[in-house]
Amino acid sequence: MNEVDVLVIGAGPAGMAAAMRAQESGARVAMVDDNWSAGGQIWRGVQNSHTRTPAGIRMFWGTQVVARGTAERTLLLEDSEKAFELAFDKLILATGAREIYLPFPGWTLPGVMGAGGLQALVKSGLGIQGKTVVIAGSGPLLLAVAAYLRKAGARVKLIAEQATTKAVSSFAFHMVRYPMKVTQATALKLSLHGVPYLRGCWVEAAEGEGRVQRVRLRQGRKSWTEDCDYAGIGYGLYPNTELAALLGCRLRTNAIEVNEWQRTSVDGVFAAGECTGIGGVDLSLIEGEIAGYAACGDTARASRLFGARSRAKRFAGALDRTFRLREELRTLPRPGTIICRCEDVQYEKLQQMSSFRAAKLHTRCGMGPCQARICGVATEFLFGWRTDSVRPPILPVRAGSLITRKEFQQESSITR
Ligand SMILES: Cc1cc2nc3c(=O)[nH]c(=O)nc-3n(C[C@H](O)[C@H](O)[C@H](O)COP(=O)(O)OP(=O)(O)OC[C@H]3O[C@@H](n4cnc5c(N)ncnc54)[C@H](O)[C@@H]3O)c2cc1C
Repeated sequence: MNEVDVLVIGAGPAGMAAAMRAQESGARVAMVDDNWSAGGQIWRGVQNSHTRTPAGIRMFWGTQVVARGTAERTLLLEDSEKAFELAFDKLILATGAREIYLPFPGWTLPGVMGAGGLQALVKSGLGIQGKTVVIAGSGPLLLAVAAYLRKAGARVKLIAEQATTKAVSSFAFHMVRYPMKVTQATALKLSLHGVPYLRGCWVEAAEGEGRVQRVRLRQGRKSWTEDCDYAGIGYGLYPNTELAALLGCRLRTNAIEVNEWQRTSVDGVFAAGECTGIGGVDLSLIEGEIAGYAACGDTARASRLFGARSRAKRFAGALDRTFRLREELRTLPRPGTIICRCEDVQYEKLQQMSSFRAAKLHTRCGMGPCQARICGVATEFLFGWRTDSVRPPILPVRAGSLITRKEFQQESSITR
């Protein structure tokens, strides 16, 4: 079994910052990420000072953490060839966040995807040159994605932001206190010159033969259609907390609860970045640094970053208030709209249920390969349900990776 002082899960901004600071403090560090290089969601495939991995940090690329290990302070990992366990003294969770997809008629049509998801596909090689794209949903990510796609040759027809003009304007006013953000926003605005940014506007439906050909938009009383080849629709981000929950870490609403040292409720386990709450890349970097230092007991250097973290958190609070999701989005699904995409469960079936557990037992909602990562968030928004349990493995794995493990053998003997 491998043994390290500090094990970091996730090589996004938070994980990279944590690993570098822990190494700087003299610890033997290892990192795990299911991608093949560092950068997480924002710097996927990008080379910069944050994504260059320092010599001495042991990297496990293309490797996912799927369950606890057999002993205390161990995890079960799987790569493309094998399953293995890794032992650690301190663990830093930097598992990031995923996009929020909300259901509406036609959201399962090919060509309709998350805004960040579409960006990720283009970064991985999807040709977008000359394609017409509608970007919709909520939050600053829409602007970043639209600018990226435009640069890649897409014809970005419009950006539909569900937040009101009043909320967006007061956010812009608030940003004056953050000169760096103003510079970034101005650059984005310039690169999106001529692209309409419609506020108080959202996609009601996607339509087309076999794939999306147009979307129906609403802005107040006005409703109209726009032709498009792709629709990138994302309603913000949702923290990835499954691993933390499996380890017994306390959650606060939908994020991992941490104290001022980024320590979770479980001894020896720290967390940083968007898995502890959505706050953007700057906050992720600072939290990662604090977690890296604190995991090594270097509280002096960690505490010097508290001021910067508070400032970044204030910005995150303003983001949260501005882009809060509107009530009308709850009314979009029709009786036949599929909500659980893995198990094809329709809205009308779920309307008869009283909780996520009941929905799971009676309709198999949330029991497919994504393990409620999409429909769990959607039903939380639509019905106010919480997904109440996380069971190993937290990600799809090869049967061979589990076969020798006692708890899975016991479970299968019960269900047989
Ligand atoms: C799809 C998407 C696109 C985005 N695009 C932008 C953008 O263009 N501009 C912008 O400013 N912000 C963007 N963001 C927001 C940005 O990602 C965050 O602000 C910031 O990157 C969060 O950093 P992080 O380190 O907390 O998490 P992340 O960057 O999400 O990194 C977490 C890493 O952990 C890995 N991981 C999670 N669970 C496991 C596991 N069990 N086993 C192994 N590895 C695991 C993930 O694969 C990921 O690489 C995007 C977010 C998303 C979801």
